[in-house]
Amino acid sequence: MPWYKKLHWQIIIGLILGLIWGLISTQAGWNQFTSDFIRPVGTIFVNLLQLIAIPLVLASLVVGVTKLNNLTQLSRMGGKTIGIYMVTTVCAITIGLVSVNLIQPGKALPEETRVELMESYQENVEEREQTAEQALQRGPLQPLVDIVPPNVVSAMSSNANMLQVVFIAILLGIGLIQIEKAKSRHLVNFFDGFNDVIIKIVDYIMLLAPYGVFALLAAVIIDLAGDDLSRAVDLLFALGWYSLAVLIGLFLHMNLVYFTLFKIFSTMTLRNFFRGIRPAMLLGFSTSSSAATLPVTMERVEKNLGVEEEVSSFVLPVGATINMDGTSLYQAVAAVFIAQAVGMDLSIAQQLTIVLTATLASIGTAGVPGAGIIMLVIVLNSVQVPVEGIALILGVDRILDMCRTAVNITGDAAVAVAVASTEGKLSDGRFDD
Ligand code: ASP
Repeated sequence: MPWYKKLHWQIIIGLILGLIWGLISTQAGWNQFTSDFIRPVGTIFVNLLQLIAIPLVLASLVVGVTKLNNLTQLSRMGGKTIGIYMVTTVCAITIGLVSVNLIQPGKALPEETRVELMESYQENVEEREQTAEQALQRGPLQPLVDIVPPNVVSAMSSNANMLQVVFIAILLGIGLIQIEKAKSRHLVNFFDGFNDVIIKIVDYIMLLAPYGVFALLAAVIIDLAGDDLSRAVDLLFALGWYSLAVLIGLFLHMNLVYFTLFKIFSTMTLRNFFRGIRPAMLLGFSTSSSAATLPVTMERVEKNLGVEEEVSSFVLPVGATINMDGTSLYQAVAAVFIAQAVGMDLSIAQQLTIVLTATLASIGTAGVPGAGIIMLVIVLNSVQVPVEGIALILGVDRILDMCRTAVNITGDAAVAVAVASTEGKLSDGRFDD
């Protein structure tokens, strides 16, 4: 296949053209046109992905559970998944803390930039503070309560309820293994067929990916730059060290932690892993949403990395909801950066508190654009760093969100490979397109 026909190259070309279009648009005064006629293509693309996420998780997890040998295997897999998710998250936060303590971006921020940023983004902070406040007021067991829906239709009515859908699918699957084969056969066949149909639909949606990504990128650029591109560029430079601390952390995490994970649990090489997962990473980057990318992540992990459905259909939806390596790393860097910028020195004990709260905050972060910065409020509160400091990082948050989302998705896929390998459910992957 010529290189330009490969999916990831087509997405990269879409991405670059979208970037160029966005830049031309801001310079030529075409932002209204871009907003009216190009942005909707990206919205339609993301909507299509979101549309199939719940049916896909439901059908593939029901079929997955019925393929398991017994229920002990399910609970063992669940334990391993949560355990490895926790460990990779703590590693991510630690790498973030090392990166920000070495680079010290907060100390490099000029005083006048700090004052200017605080003034321009102040209003946007309050809204986020209120949302985080609501999350804080929930009881300690509320996340558990939220997994069990009181009503099937309400559970299926929002993609934010993914864990409820996982719960329903597991119950259905367990029920199907327990009843007579003669009775369960038809329903299992139904879900199996339904699952195949959805996977076909994912293939069709992916034909749209390069156009969708083009539109998404163009929209991001006009939102960021507005009519004043030079101000956006200045901002990027002013927060250059901070952004670099996040990016270096993300890069190290992907290369060190996932490499070690594969060394311990499987024979997968990092190169093959990235070859298999890259279209999903690129989509995560363009959409800034691990929830919206889920159908593509599932498809790539199964078809290209060779993870069997029993594992991927459980590990990935759970991961898209609770496992955010990129977000937790970013929250650690952001918290220390803000502390440095306002002249606070965080002690080792305070940095350990960040490890704990960023782990919890990332679990509570939804897989949608901009969710990470809301939960950052909780991390800041835990170490008494002024929440208003969020104003300092808002300007570059969208760009960093794109990068951390790509890492969030990679983390879910890496754990799926590790769990599948230990369960003997990893076959040879196709890796490339
Ligand atoms: N956008 C991220 C995600 O969907 C969450 C975040 O804001 O960090 O994974």
